[in-house]
Amino acid sequence: MLRPQVLLFALAITVAPAPPGAAQQPRRTPPARRRPPPVTAHRIPTPRSILGFEPGDDRKLADWPTLVRYYQALASASDRMRYHELGHSTLGAPLIALVISSPQNLRGLDRYRELNAKLADPRGFKTARESEDVLRDGKAVVLITSGIHSTEVGGHLTPAVLAYRLASDTGLATRTILDNVILWLVPSLNPDGVSIVTRWYNRTVGTAAEGTDPPEPYHHYTGHDNNRDWYAFTQIETQVVVDSIHNVWHPQIVHDIHQQDTDGSRLFLPPYLDPIEPNVDPLLVDGVNALGTAMAWALAGQGKPGIVINAVYDAWTPARAYQHYHGGVRILSEAASANLASPIDIPFDHLATRARGFNPRERSWNFTNPWPGGRWTLRDIVSYQTDAAYALLESAARYRDIWLANFLTVEERGVHGWRGWPYAYVIPRQQRDTVGLATLLGILHRGQVEIRTALHPVTLAGQRYAAGSYVVVLRQPYAAFAKTLLEPQHYPDLRLYPAGPPLPPYDVTAHTLPLLMGVTAVPARDSLRIGLSAPVEPPATTPAYSGVAGPEGPRIGLYRSYDASMDEGWTRWVFDTWHVPYVSVVDSVVRAGKLAAQFTVIILPDQAPDELLNGLPHEYPAPYAGGLGADGVKALRQFVQDGGTLVALNDASRFAAEQLLLPVRNVLAGVADDEFYAPGSIFRLELDTAAPLARGMPAQSVAWYEGGPAFEALDSSAVRVIGRYPTDADKVLLSGWVLHPERIAGKAALVEVKQGSGRVVLFGFRPQYRGQSIATYPLLFNSLQLTAQ
Ligand SMILES: [Zn+2]
Repeated sequence: MLRPQVLLFALAITVAPAPPGAAQQPRRTPPARRRPPPVTAHRIPTPRSILGFEPGDDRKLADWPTLVRYYQALASASDRMRYHELGHSTLGAPLIALVISSPQNLRGLDRYRELNAKLADPRGFKTARESEDVLRDGKAVVLITSGIHSTEVGGHLTPAVLAYRLASDTGLATRTILDNVILWLVPSLNPDGVSIVTRWYNRTVGTAAEGTDPPEPYHHYTGHDNNRDWYAFTQIETQVVVDSIHNVWHPQIVHDIHQQDTDGSRLFLPPYLDPIEPNVDPLLVDGVNALGTAMAWALAGQGKPGIVINAVYDAWTPARAYQHYHGGVRILSEAASANLASPIDIPFDHLATRARGFNPRERSWNFTNPWPGGRWTLRDIVSYQTDAAYALLESAARYRDIWLANFLTVEERGVHGWRGWPYAYVIPRQQRDTVGLATLLGILHRGQVEIRTALHPVTLAGQRYAAGSYVVVLRQPYAAFAKTLLEPQHYPDLRLYPAGPPLPPYDVTAHTLPLLMGVTAVPARDSLRIGLSAPVEPPATTPAYSGVAGPEGPRIGLYRSYDASMDEGWTRWVFDTWHVPYVSVVDSVVRAGKLAAQFTVIILPDQAPDELLNGLPHEYPAPYAGGLGADGVKALRQFVQDGGTLVALNDASRFAAEQLLLPVRNVLAGVADDEFYAPGSIFRLELDTAAPLARGMPAQSVAWYEGGPAFEALDSSAVRVIGRYPTDADKVLLSGWVLHPERIAGKAALVEVKQGSGRVVLFGFRPQYRGQSIATYPLLFNSLQLTAQ
């Protein structure tokens, strides 16, 4: 689904009136041509036999332990699959996978793993004959993952239907799949969320809140952002799947099953929209285009209307596409949602009139057969998802030889390097931020990038780097992964029409780790002409922030909205990881007041002012409906008057500035996207290092900018500017995209405002962005201790 913040932008441009004649009458869809019923083996347990219902039945969801029991029963009854427990989730649930193939292939599984590993690193081939043998004998490796976004509940059930079909069907198509493909099926990338959503759904079914999202993030720390962790690897689920499947099996195809909004296409499949991140091998883009289109074609042939390709989703960020940098294609599917497991009715004229790249009410080359509207149910979702996954497997089996050959080509091109790429990056061993250095190198290492050290000093552009410096040579299988994370991004200037408003990216536009982590990494254009060590392990690190522990330390309250904020979860993750003690504070606690007796500092994570104030709608039962409200605002104002420190992050700064009537002006208030725009970029930040808030920071740092405010002080006796953007507009952007940086040039990005006996700290950026912006963690940590001085 669309990330909420991006959704706002997307909605903002989708309300334009439809061009005349855009809406045509819905045409009758021809009756679906059904597949012949599969010939099945009767001893294989059906999903119904364990779940107690047919997957897709209205208002029926299964909890995770029941689903696990089904997969265990299936694997013990079928010689076509094996059950694996990969590890445990954040909250301790088993994280599982099935490996599915012909019984014969499963008996030779170790050999097939070795063959595929040889293709993944072609430096081991001594002769052309060796690689030809592997290409002849190898199997296409496919990874299908589901359920990372737990409110997309079709994804809870589709893997059970797919696994049952593959276990029981004796038809030729299935046998061809099993003979040619080794499938790794991860039925949920977020088992905790299956339980959270199912529990909430079952509790609210039949009430006004039926079909609503749960009042907590469905991944304990990251909520919906759990799908933006495929290069930072902060979360245990990402780590386990990368370590145990991606890096061992090197899938040529990864299919990730999702759901989108209710009123667009019935199913999205690739090709993706531009822009494609430029380090993705063009052959992988071709593979994505061919496979997604083949799937759409197959489903259309089965009579499924409403399938769109080349729409909505781009392929810029590596945060969702580990395999695009590891020789594989990522096939995203996004089925239309219902209300969790409750059906919906959408008349044709309630479908959206505009979406990125197509009109859901109008036939076009990439949306050939519009859905006529009507009832949409969980069964429809499961059916589209299952048949799409099956079509993917059929294509993988049919073109096994091409998938393997192209996989080898991509890895060979990585080993040879691309014209125009730097030869290497040199990363000095002595860095200001040792945790940042260890984290950055740890990310590259987990991404299977070889890190070496210089055996002699290196001089680049007149600067000498000591022997022992880390060196990442961009001539290795996964060089693209290293390059995209080490270099600045130059997001293209895309507009809705020439000189018009910006065309919003699907996600953020920057991912330059040296900037985010405060690490120096220097590109070397040419061969270094010095000896390098064998690949080394990255240095170990144990993040910890000692300044706030103990009885004398600050008493920290972290506001937790029931209208779940991903940034709240990320803040909790950073605090838990760095051993910062805190208490989560909900609406009732804030509204009750007397906050200064309980806390010295209260943090409002990044969240829209309206969500903070009003929270969830009245359909929700107590205590979830309503936000901070007038009482909460009053209590926060009193807390500051009484000497407390209120810390507001990014969008929450707008809330704090408005509600506490602070003497600052947001220069971006009311500014349209075509007058200023930066949808997730890294800016340069200049700091007043004499201020306690910037203690230990360099004078020049970064700010993760993502739709936040920028300030002017209206009362210099009360407002201290701690950080500002450069006065030279050309110097604002370090990585990503910005339109009209002159709007914020010289403006304040971080201020401390005195009020009563206390103070308010306003961050106009995200200092702990998705657990990545380690360079600016000290600003957040320092803000916790201001009252203690
Ligand atoms: Zn999703």
